[in-house]
Amino acid sequence: MASGNAIRGSRVGAGPMGEAERGDTAPRIRISYWCANGHETKPSFSQESGVEPPEQWDCPRCGFPAGTDKDNPPAPPRNEPYKTHLAYVKERRSDADGEAILNEALEGLRARGLIR
Ligand SMILES: [Zn+2]
Repeated sequence: MASGNAIRGSRVGAGPMGEAERGDTAPRIRISYWCANGHETKPSFSQESGVEPPEQWDCPRCGFPAGTDKDNPPAPPRNEPYKTHLAYVKERRSDADGEAILNEALEGLRARGLIR
C-alpha cells in the first residue's frame, strides 16, 4: 500500500515541464501596492481577463488603501472623532430641530397655498 501511494505521488508531482505548462495557460501579473503604513502587498491579476489592475488595493494587514506608488501611498481613510461628536450633538437636538423644521415646512406649504 505504501509503495503504491509513493508511485502515485511522484506522478502527480510532475516536473519542471508541468510547472511551465501551468504558467502558460494562465498568465498572471503581480503588482506591488503600498499602504500609508508601509505594508507591501502583491496581489496577482490574470492577464487573460483583459481587466486592468485597480489603482488602489486594500491592505490586507491594516485595511488602509494601498497604491502602486511606494513613495506616495493613498491617504488613510478619515475617521474624525470630532465628526461623530457633532453627529451626537445633532442627534440630541433633533427633537427641537424637528419641530422647527416641521413648522418651517408647514409655513412653506401655506405660502404656496397648498394648505390653509
Ligand atoms: Zn497596511
